Amino acid sequence: MLIEKGSTIAILGGGQLGKMLCESAKIQGYKTMVLEPSPSACAKYVTDKHLVKAYDDKNALIEIAKESDVVTYEFENVTAESINILEANGGYVPQGIRPLYISQHRFREKSSINNLGIKTAKFEEVTDSESLDKAIEIIGYPAILKTSMGGYDGKGQWVIRTKEDLENAKKDLEKREYILEQMVDFQCELSCIAVNSTDGSIGVFPVVENIHKKGILHITIAPARVSEEIQEKVKDITKKIIDGLNFVGPLAIEYFYGKDGEIYVNEMAPRPHNSAHYTLDGCDKSQFDLHIEGICGKKLTDPKLLHKSVMLNILGQDVERIEKASLRENEFLHMYNKGEAKVDRKMGHLNLIGEDLEALIKRAEELAK
Ligand code: AMP
Repeated sequence: MLIEKGSTIAILGGGQLGKMLCESAKIQGYKTMVLEPSPSACAKYVTDKHLVKAYDDKNALIEIAKESDVVTYEFENVTAESINILEANGGYVPQGIRPLYISQHRFREKSSINNLGIKTAKFEEVTDSESLDKAIEIIGYPAILKTSMGGYDGKGQWVIRTKEDLENAKKDLEKREYILEQMVDFQCELSCIAVNSTDGSIGVFPVVENIHKKGILHITIAPARVSEEIQEKVKDITKKIIDGLNFVGPLAIEYFYGKDGEIYVNEMAPRPHNSAHYTLDGCDKSQFDLHIEGICGKKLTDPKLLHKSVMLNILGQDVERIEKASLRENEFLHMYNKGEAKVDRKMGHLNLIGEDLEALIKRAEELAK
């Protein structure tokens, strides 16, 4: 369905991703309403309407269904119940619940990817000490134990290199679902985001390289420093997944490029992604532009990388230093207005653009010190 300019886009979630979606929607001529329980959420400064209610508040969802022309989400923990309430009251949620249902749960996510004939690291389901023992026999050392649901930025993960690590992990096991995953010996981590429009056209962004610190994205390098052949392969897999799973809207996929030359999917998210924030300054369209265009039924093509780009995440402990730094004309600071600058909290990002990728990486690392 084509959503005309002047219509209202509702966004479930009003964090930095919601904020940047609102900004793009506004530029494209749409009004926005955001459902976000935090009264000081960053999207409140840029949205036309902020419903300060829980994500599953029935009355708020009914209000959204009645007042909006299309509904999207910017985080993964939206419930099926919320989508049902929206749809039962005439809300239009083109992405539906399926992308969330699959990506919210690591076992379902990796199984559905394998079912398309696409590789992930080997994994086994774990629920208790016994199944962990069985899983390690199949997977072998080193491995990573991950909670199936709710983990992010490396939280809810135990690296298991030895029998001792295994015994320690057993002590932490709670009554919930986990997966034990083979540790991939990778050359680098890559990601790619694509958007499938409701009209069936797909736009795929360039493949980028990600460097993490303490499980949190530190810098993104665009384009990834891998061969064109590998970049094309990753784009093809991304398209195959979004097509094969029949998803509408954005899908960001994180990959390992193994030392064995293989590409392994790590995880995916049906929302804008931190590793594509560089697109705000480095591409002719941002990931937020394409997300809005896609749910509004516009025809999509692949966005172009205009400049080589490096994105540096700004965490709570970096804010003071970065705000004092003398930035150059090719360096773009995006702060999220998030309130308290807690350690490791994502407070903003800095995009550096230019033509010499290694110089941009060096500069990002200097600014990160
Ligand atoms: P995740 O929350 O699954 O994205 O994991 C956070 C980070 O931990 C990844 O970006 C990798 O740096 C590392 N990691 C996670 N799973 C694996 C794996 N199977 N092999 C190697 N490194 C991993």
